[in-house]
Amino acid sequence: MDKDKTVLLSNDVETTSIWFNDLRDDTGEKVWKEGMPLLLDLYRKYDIKSTFFYTAYIAKLYPEVVRMVIADGHEIGSHGKSHIKENGFDVMPFEKQKRHLDYSKKVLEDISGQEVISFRSPAIRVSPITARALIETGFRIDSSVASQRFDFFMSFGGMQKLSFLKTPRLPYRTKKNDIFSKGNSELVELPMSATLLPFIGSTMRIMPEITKIQQRVLHYETLISGKPAVFVIHPNELIDETNAPRTIKRRSSNQLAYLLSDVIRAKLKARNLGAPAVPIYEEIIKFYVKHGYSAPTMRSYVDKLILDGRV
Ligand SMILES: [Zn+2]
Repeated sequence: MDKDKTVLLSNDVETTSIWFNDLRDDTGEKVWKEGMPLLLDLYRKYDIKSTFFYTAYIAKLYPEVVRMVIADGHEIGSHGKSHIKENGFDVMPFEKQKRHLDYSKKVLEDISGQEVISFRSPAIRVSPITARALIETGFRIDSSVASQRFDFFMSFGGMQKLSFLKTPRLPYRTKKNDIFSKGNSELVELPMSATLLPFIGSTMRIMPEITKIQQRVLHYETLISGKPAVFVIHPNELIDETNAPRTIKRRSSNQLAYLLSDVIRAKLKARNLGAPAVPIYEEIIKFYVKHGYSAPTMRSYVDKLILDGRV
């Protein structure tokens, strides 16, 4: 039997400025007015449905950034309360995780009038118990786990993310108390695609040629196992903030970590930022169109998995 070929193109919408390596309200406004329309145009052009994960922070600041996706049939998901470091789900205690989930769900549901059941944690930082926090606050889908992704110094929570090396690759029901393990809870995990390297917008911009190879490798995996390709892009990757001077904000206390993760990271991450990222992303999309993939929202994809008895 032919495996079905699905790509889940997902978008994390937040006020993070890649150029300034900081959170900025001005960046959020550009995300809304410049980045989001570019993404929506691409999705319209190729008849793609997508899931947009919003921080409650940007949703409250610019509610239109949420409402603008509804008419095209996209899904609205939660990206937590905000992207500040203290709000990582790998460092917050259980009750606080639940408060943040409750709050972000309510904010997004009030603005959109849609039920919100899908989640991706800020900076994909989660702890095992995040599964229970999600279940108890009415979420049914998570996409914060990246199977076989190896981050090392490149992002926050690098050590916790070592758990990714042993998580399942196919969509799975999590254990109630462990988001990284297969169980029989109400929560379905849709692992983000990775081949050690994450399959995301920043890899795509920094190393477009490598990402093309990666896309083909993942395509063969889809043909063999039916695993959906899960790609992540941020509308803040499509905006240009170069009209203002740039400083590299120091986030690491240790000198080596500063060099590795702050300086190199800041320089690399600005590659193909803004308008040049659009045609690169379009190439990724065209590959899937050419190979007959369907591109639904995460919610409708999981409905189908359940209907077919695949999770
Ligand atoms: Zn994010």
